[in-house]
Amino acid sequence: MPAGAGYADAQLHALACIVCTKDDGELLPAGHGQTEARPGEPLTWAVAACPEHQDGAS
Ligand SMILES: [Zn+2]
Repeated sequence: MPAGAGYADAQLHALACIVCTKDDGELLPAGHGQTEARPGEPLTWAVAACPEHQDGAS
């Protein structure tokens, strides 16, 4: 079962940039993302971003 529509597994585990999916460089904490595990059931999780996208992720 996919944990979040539109995100790769690595992104959901903060192992890839939440914006560009890059996973082979430096990753920085980028706050939290939110998706719906099921309709009407929001799920919040910690996300990571590469230096290029850290400011743009929200
Ligand atoms: Zn990125």
